[in-house]
Amino acid sequence: MVGAAIGYGLASAGARVSVLDEGDTAFRAARGNFGLTWVQSKGLGAHPYFRLSLESVDAWGAFADELRERTGVDVAFRRDGGLILALGEAEAAERRDFIARFRHQAANDYDCRFIDRAAVQELHPAAPLGESVTGASFSPMDGHANPLFLLRAMVTGIGHSGGTFHPGQTVQTIARAGSGYVVTTATKSFEAEKIVIAAGLGTRQLAEMVGLDVPVRGQRGQLIATERTSEIFRYPMSGLRQTAEGSVLIGYTQEDVGLNTDTTAAGMRQITRRAIASFPQLAGLRFVRAWAALRVLTPDGRPVYAQSTTHPGAFVATCHSGVTLAAAHARRFPAWVLEGRFPAGFETFTAERFHVQATV
Ligand SMILES: Cc1cc2nc3c(=O)[nH]c(=O)nc-3n(C[C@H](O)[C@H](O)[C@H](O)COP(=O)(O)OP(=O)(O)OC[C@H]3O[C@@H](n4cnc5c(N)ncnc54)[C@H](O)[C@@H]3O)c2cc1C
Repeated sequence: MVGAAIGYGLASAGARVSVLDEGDTAFRAARGNFGLTWVQSKGLGAHPYFRLSLESVDAWGAFADELRERTGVDVAFRRDGGLILALGEAEAAERRDFIARFRHQAANDYDCRFIDRAAVQELHPAAPLGESVTGASFSPMDGHANPLFLLRAMVTGIGHSGGTFHPGQTVQTIARAGSGYVVTTATKSFEAEKIVIAAGLGTRQLAEMVGLDVPVRGQRGQLIATERTSEIFRYPMSGLRQTAEGSVLIGYTQEDVGLNTDTTAAGMRQITRRAIASFPQLAGLRFVRAWAALRVLTPDGRPVYAQSTTHPGAFVATCHSGVTLAAAHARRFPAWVLEGRFPAGFETFTAERFHVQATV
């Protein structure tokens, strides 16, 4: 997802782009994606991350239009706002406190408010609330899109701009060649003036080859898709949204289980219980699919964007929310990679922030 967005941006800016991708057997966060373009919970205590997320979703409408015009793929982007439901009084207090702390950090930029149970019900008149719903945080900053169509649109866009996508090409080595690099896979080698490593959980291993230490770990998320139904949710919620086609997506667990991508009965139970407690009518919908995928997390959950100092022209990009940040990735990277203009606000996204020396 991250590599496709950056590749799309670079190809659109006129660069000759080749995207090398391990393929369908790889760990892929992108395939598990929930499709939220989400800001309200991003960057408390990390203002530049909040700013970048907001900048990206502000650019998302034009980005989606551009993708549709260039590729014919409608990524079903809607930005009507989004909710995080509170079940019980403790969760409501927690939401209120979170909003207050965020407002303190982001002053008037943080457009999010707590709404009571009646207001939540008004937003979703076709879905009677469960008894335990006490309210929600609501933010007009938030929205959603179809992440699979997004990926297809960006890859198609790379092709339309003369770039090439190479599936089934697992990068094994990266070495200098003249002023650029030679990248080898099991069957081919590719030469490039510049390279961007955006390989999700494979990032750390590849980044080491250009002198960068980028710690990432996987976190499993399990999801369920129901059969299609008439519109019951206009607004996406954290862990619950209805797609443009009518399926309800129910998510998501957050599990530290290494590289295990199994679905489990316990995980399904956890997410469906909360969904049905929120909207009891969901109990009447049939599941059609359940799956799990691994999120790509840095130690503080924020992005890493870096250019190697030992290997100039070699860049690394990784983040937790590749859909939310897709518009920013496509727009911010070309000037940096092609013209060397360091993106304003990226100072805090270095990999060095994790290299804190131990003290005695
Ligand atoms: C359950 C779940 C829900 C999510 N929901 C959202 C959401 O609502 N909104 C949002 O913004 N984000 C969401 N995300 C996160 C989003 O999916 C990720 O941010 C995004 O997919 C990360 O993109 P990536 O390109 O870094 O990694 P991935 O999508 O994991 O892709 C990594 C790619 O690198 C390739 N690769 C790895 N090693 C090599 C190698 N050696 N050679 C060649 N290729 C290699 C792989 O083939 C793969 O295609 C969710 C993730 C999960 C798991």
